[in-house]
Amino acid sequence: MSMNSMIETRNLVAGRWEQGAGTVANVNPSDLSDVIGHHAQATVAQLDSSVDAARRAQRKWWASGIQKRHDVLMAIGTELMARSEEIGRLVSREEGKPLAEGKGEVYRAGQFFTYFAAETLRQIGDHAQSVRPDIEIDVRREPVGVVAIISPWNFPVATPAWKIAPALAFGNGVIWKPANLTPASAAAMADIIARQDIPEGLFSMLAGPGAEIGQQLVEHSGIDAISFTGSVPVGRGVAATAIQNMTKVQLEMGSKNPIIVMDDADLDLAVSHCAGAAFGGTGQKCTAASRLIVHEMVHDAFVEKLAAAARALKVGHALEKGTQIGPAVSAAQLEGNLGYVELGKSEGAELVCGGNRLERPTEGYFMAPAVFAQTTNDMRINREEMFAPITCVMKAGSYDEALTIANDSEFGLTAGIMTQSLARASHFRANMRAGTVMVNLPTAGTDYHVPFGGRGASSFGPREQGQYAVEFYTAVKTAYVYAGAAE
Ligand code: NAD
Repeated sequence: MSMNSMIETRNLVAGRWEQGAGTVANVNPSDLSDVIGHHAQATVAQLDSSVDAARRAQRKWWASGIQKRHDVLMAIGTELMARSEEIGRLVSREEGKPLAEGKGEVYRAGQFFTYFAAETLRQIGDHAQSVRPDIEIDVRREPVGVVAIISPWNFPVATPAWKIAPALAFGNGVIWKPANLTPASAAAMADIIARQDIPEGLFSMLAGPGAEIGQQLVEHSGIDAISFTGSVPVGRGVAATAIQNMTKVQLEMGSKNPIIVMDDADLDLAVSHCAGAAFGGTGQKCTAASRLIVHEMVHDAFVEKLAAAARALKVGHALEKGTQIGPAVSAAQLEGNLGYVELGKSEGAELVCGGNRLERPTEGYFMAPAVFAQTTNDMRINREEMFAPITCVMKAGSYDEALTIANDSEFGLTAGIMTQSLARASHFRANMRAGTVMVNLPTAGTDYHVPFGGRGASSFGPREQGQYAVEFYTAVKTAYVYAGAAE
């Protein structure tokens, strides 16, 4: 049994913490005997009152001005950073990532708020001369209104933070629907926001099943914009609904990120980056490296070293010292992972290591990181996002062939190349169809002050993060003013 305390969380409805229509149990994937708590499931009536309150509060928030918004965002960010150990532990306990990653995620969430606190003060606009006499033109940005934010479980604090922070910074109201698997860390962040001096109901958090409260939120006529991160099928449905209502929409979805390893690469660095990007976070990252395209000259040595690196990774309880890879987040996720291992074998890929469920002192969803070799890009394991600690190696005879394979995917989030050739690195930067390209770096691991997003089925709509975030969270207004003819 766990020595941790039970956390009974409610929903933040129009400024008040309320019970909902029943609760769901929140279970630690590293230790199924550790029931973290129970979480209230929001109702449609609570959604309606949250949206009404947010519409009223948003106007007051916008009117309160940039210094106020700056101070509130700075306070939220500072508290998240100061409490990163405590809330990070909660993230690790309910999501299953190692403690250092949980803590790092919460600290990063704080940085998103302090970054966007500063952005509130950068309000330099555009002024234009009219083609007609005595008319002045300016182009300004206004809040888009009330934004629905829908986030997944794999970065339960950082992902909503990089959406909530710009939404509030640019003067919007927010209704946040967190993932149902990670309610305790969501409630912790919502509590920090709710305690600020903000208009009542400006920010609400409503948890529940995506197909119910999530869908009702997306369909709600009081929502002006939807920022969604999650899977492609759900994203496609969100977009279809948004178009029906003419609601502004932004989607961040799946991926199948490649890393090309060339014959001139520093092989040990390549192995370390590929293993880190493939297996970190149990492979449950949208930036995970799942297709490793390796030049034939170094292929066999690479596979051998990668398998050795995978075998050496310590898989265990997320809160245990020394753990490098935690469990899969849920029974369904583990079952899906093991299903992909079977699928790979049935497609003719060679399972070099891992792929089996692991026993640990506590009962949890642990599996050994898996490396498939002898794979081809038409196999389903190379086409579908697995979101698992499984990576697939493909052999390429040349850089051109490797690039063609890398680009042959419906996704385009991140992509990397390991090479010492500046010419190849430059060609890759220019010709890789992806939102983010990495040279001699892993596909996972991005900064917080520059844009993030992908191409193809990975993303839809304006970019997130950095100064590019303004595009989604604001509406542009062009004002023409005739001040009378000059004397
Ligand atoms: P998911 O699509 O199942 O759920 C995402 C969120 O949408 C959850 O909050 C869920 O409750 C909600 N949802 C589900 N059905 C809904 C509906 N009909 N209407 C409205 N909301 C609904 O994804 P997940 O399993 O939570 O997360 C894993 C996925 O997220 C992976 O595909 C991964 O690639 C993606 N992801 C993408 C990025 C990125 O930035 N590109 C980052 C992290 C995760």
